[in-house]
Amino acid sequence: MDEFALIDRYFRRAGGAGVRLGVGDDAALLEVPAGRLLVAAVDTLVEGVHYPPSLAAADIGYRALAVNLSDLAAMGAEPCWATLALTLPAADADWLQGFADGLFEAAAAHDVALVGGDTTHGSQTVISLQLLGHVDPDRALTRAGCREGDLLYVSGTVGDAAAGLELIVAGEGQGDLQQRFRRPAPRVALGGAVAGLASAAIDLSDGLYADLSRLLAASGAGARVDWQALPVSAALRERAGDDAARRLALGGGDDYELCLAVPRDRAAEFEAAAAAAGATVTRIGEAVAGTGIALLNGGEPVDYRHAGYRHFDDGETA
Ligand code: ADP
Ligand code: MG
Repeated sequence: MDEFALIDRYFRRAGGAGVRLGVGDDAALLEVPAGRLLVAAVDTLVEGVHYPPSLAAADIGYRALAVNLSDLAAMGAEPCWATLALTLPAADADWLQGFADGLFEAAAAHDVALVGGDTTHGSQTVISLQLLGHVDPDRALTRAGCREGDLLYVSGTVGDAAAGLELIVAGEGQGDLQQRFRRPAPRVALGGAVAGLASAAIDLSDGLYADLSRLLAASGAGARVDWQALPVSAALRERAGDDAARRLALGGGDDYELCLAVPRDRAAEFEAAAAAAGATVTRIGEAVAGTGIALLNGGEPVDYRHAGYRHFDDGETA
């Protein structure tokens, strides 16, 4: 199968809102609605780095889109179009079919059209997916708007995906925790519903501690976070125990939930909007003057040493 047959067979699908021209020409032609800002994000998945080689092709396809949907969710944006750069060691029909099925399943769930890409041969599977969407200029969420006194919220539960990945790597592929890694549920509806209410947002790809730290640094604020308030699932507590579950909730990545800051006087409106969007949100603390995160359990500092995953970390820097 040559490159063009492969693209036609697995990746060419007609239609999509705002698509004047999709897969097949030199570039796609897309209509951004008048008065909206174009929003762009890209994420790369490298086999063995971002997912274990044992992960099913359909899960890889699903994740490739889901992780980008999560970035647009964190901006309060509406996702619309994707392009896909695929590097493959071989054109394995079963793998490609599974990958395309998973990718288009996530795309259908969020009305995203695949409008182009690039397909190349290489020694290792590398999937780079770019997602485009748009947002109301007055409602775009960024990491930078959190102010002292704002309340901090997290959607869903955190720590599950990291535990799930450990189980998958250990050879236990199925289960609720594993499903959280295999099929992230990006909070697109929540992001859209609370844009204009939240003061700042970030999606949780590298773990709550690391990602909240980024939001705080961008905003010029610190935070007090309540250890007991961290939303951990019953499944994770059963599996890991309460203390380890909370450490995973802070340090484990891949949850793709949102962490949001909300001015106190908008909190009731925010909680109502989140509920209407079908999302559970948990208040985990508040923003304070200063920098960094103070973790408190019943008012006492918690001994938590953060060791988040970093690409290219030589181990010499914190
Ligand atoms: P060019 O050489 O002009 O860049 P290509 O031969 O790379 O064009 O691609 C042909 C068409 O197929 C283009 O419209 C491109 O966007 C699309 N395409 C290539 N690879 C993929 C892919 N993996 N998924 C979706 N569309 C793709
Ligand atoms: Mg090309």
